[in-house]
Amino acid sequence: MDTASVDVAHAGMTGVAEYEAAFAHRRLRRDAFWRTIPAYADVDADTFHSHLFQARNSPTSLEGLREVLGGLVGPDFCEDLREGLSRAPMSIRISPYILSLIDWDDPYGDPLRTQFLPLASQQLPDHPELYLDSLNEQGDSPVPGLTHRYPDRALFLTLDTCPVYCRFCTRSYAVGLDTDGVEKVRLSANRKRWSLVFDYLRSRPEVEDVVVSGGDVYNLRAAQIREVGETLLDIPHIRRFRFATKGPAVMPGKILSDREWVDALVNVVNRGRRMHKEVVMHTHFNHPGEITGVTQDAMELLMERGVTVRNQAVLQRGVNDDPLTMRILVKRLSYLNIQPYYVFFHDLVQGVEDLRTTLRAGLEIEKSLRGATAGFNTPTFIVDTLGGGGKRDGHSYEHYDEETGIAVFASPTVRPGEHFLYFDPIDCLAPDIRQRWEDSEERQSMMEEALARAG
Ligand SMILES: *Cc1c(COP(=O)(O)O)cnc(C)c1O
Ligand code: SF4
Repeated sequence: MDTASVDVAHAGMTGVAEYEAAFAHRRLRRDAFWRTIPAYADVDADTFHSHLFQARNSPTSLEGLREVLGGLVGPDFCEDLREGLSRAPMSIRISPYILSLIDWDDPYGDPLRTQFLPLASQQLPDHPELYLDSLNEQGDSPVPGLTHRYPDRALFLTLDTCPVYCRFCTRSYAVGLDTDGVEKVRLSANRKRWSLVFDYLRSRPEVEDVVVSGGDVYNLRAAQIREVGETLLDIPHIRRFRFATKGPAVMPGKILSDREWVDALVNVVNRGRRMHKEVVMHTHFNHPGEITGVTQDAMELLMERGVTVRNQAVLQRGVNDDPLTMRILVKRLSYLNIQPYYVFFHDLVQGVEDLRTTLRAGLEIEKSLRGATAGFNTPTFIVDTLGGGGKRDGHSYEHYDEETGIAVFASPTVRPGEHFLYFDPIDCLAPDIRQRWEDSEERQSMMEEALARAG
C-alpha cells in the first residue's frame, strides 16, 4: 500500500508525527546506498548484492577498512578503532552491505557501526563476574560442538566462521580468528566431528529439536546444508530443527544470488514437510536500519518457497534500547513475515559492557511493545542466565535488586533447586554501589544477600 495515499483522519490518527511513526516500519530503502562508499561508487546493484562480491570484499582488517572507506573516516576514528580492536575478543569482518548502511557522517553514534567496530573511547571495564564462556556451553557439551542443556533439544555448532564478526558474540570463545586476548576453541566443519555429534543425537531419544548453528550456516556449502539436513531428518525422534544464520541481516543478496544454497535449504525444508517435520530458519536482526528493499525481496523469495523465518535479536544500549526503535524493528520484521521470536538481554561478553542494559530497562521496553502488534509477533525478552541455568523470561526473576543490579533466577527444567544470577552493567549503578563492586568481599556479600532474599 502507498502510505502517502492514506487519509490521516480515516486512519484514526491526529498528527503528522503519529502518522509518520505508524508507517515508519514500511519505509524500506531501495536507493543505491553503497555508492557513497568510495570503493563501491561504480558497482551496479546486481554485482553489489551478489554473495560472491559481498564475501570477497568484506574487510578483515583496519587497513582493509581504510582502503574501502577512503576519505570517509579521519585518523582519530581509525586510531580509536585500532585501540578498540586490540582489546576486543572478536576479529574484524564486516560485509560491504552493512558497511554501506553505516552513516559515516556520524560513525560514533551509528547503531550498525556500534555492533561491528569497537571504539576504545566507548569501551567500559568488563563486569568483575565475567567469564569467557559465561553460559557454560562447553561444560554442557557431551561431544565437541554440541551443547545439550535442555531435556528435549540440543545446540549443534557446525562450524566456527561467519559472514561477519559481531563484536558482541556470545561464542567469542570459539567463533572467528584468534585475537590478542583470546585463543579460540576450534570447531571446524568436518565430517569426523559431525559424525560424533550425529551418533550422540541418535543415542538420545529424548532430543526432538536441534538448533543448527555455528558460527553461521550461511558459510556452509550447499552440499553441507544437504548433509546436515538429511542426516537430522533421518533420525526418527528428531521432529524439528532450525538453521541459525545472521546472513539475511548482513548480506540478504545471497538468498537472491546463491541458487544452489537456497535450493539445498528448500529441499531439506520440503523433505521435512513430507515427513511431518518442521525445518525453519532463525536469523538475527538487531536494528531496523539493517532491513532494506533487498531484504524484502529475499524474504519474499523464502516465503514463496515455503521457508519460515524467525528472528532472535539482542537488546543493546545505543542500538535498539529505546521503545520506538524496538517497535519499528518488530513491526518491520513482522511486515516481512519474519516472526520476532526472542529479544535477548545482553550476555556478559568480554569488551562489550557498553552495549549491555539493565534488566529494568529491557522490561520497560517489553511493556511498551506488548500490544503494538499480534501476540505471536511480540518477542519474549530472555535472560540467558550465567553458569548454564538456561533461558528465562526476564520477568520471571525470583529477586531483583535494582540498587546492586543483581537479579536471581530459578531454572526448574534445567537445574532444579538451583539459583542463577544476572548482573546489570556496573556503570548504570550509583557511585557508592560501584565502589562495593570494586571489592571482592563486598561483591561476594552482595551476591549472597541477593541469593538469600530469593529464598
Ligand atoms: C537457546 C538454546 C536452545 C534453544 O532454545 P529455545 O528456547 O527452544 O529457542 C537449545 N540449546 C541451547 C544450549 C541453547 O542455548
Ligand atoms: S554472526 Fe552470530 S555467531 Fe557469528 S559473530 Fe555474529 S553473533 Fe557470533
